[in-house]
Amino acid sequence: MENHKVVVVPCSGIGKSLGTVGRVATYKVIERMKPKETRTVCLALLTMGDADALKLVRENPCIAVDGCPAQCSKKNIEASMGKLAHIIIVTDVLRKNRSLKPEGVIELNDQGDKLAEIIAKELSKKADEILHKET
Ligand code: SF4
Repeated sequence: MENHKVVVVPCSGIGKSLGTVGRVATYKVIERMKPKETRTVCLALLTMGDADALKLVRENPCIAVDGCPAQCSKKNIEASMGKLAHIIIVTDVLRKNRSLKPEGVIELNDQGDKLAEIIAKELSKKADEILHKET
């Protein structure tokens, strides 16, 4: 079988700390936890119909990381006919970790970073599950 990578696609969430949490969680996974097994793509490229971005999400399993229930990443992956394998919504994870109060847009506070770390661990575990299912 071809060597697939899991494509982690955070929403753009500009100006919202929960969007930043999703992006920070994504970087933690693709740069530190699972650099060989995962990669990301710019959501705006998908929206614009960029050929390379479309090919990537159509040929590899994708995880959408959305800041809120509007689920912009999930909807864009679906509209691009990408292989949506899993969805994580930051507000759902926050509901299970009510003591954390994420703040900050450009730079997260410590609690926001903790939430991003929790999401990154979930992403990492899910990426393993998806890749193991494929083999
Ligand atoms: S999912 Fe929510 S936070 Fe993310 S881009 Fe859409 S509206 Fe913004």
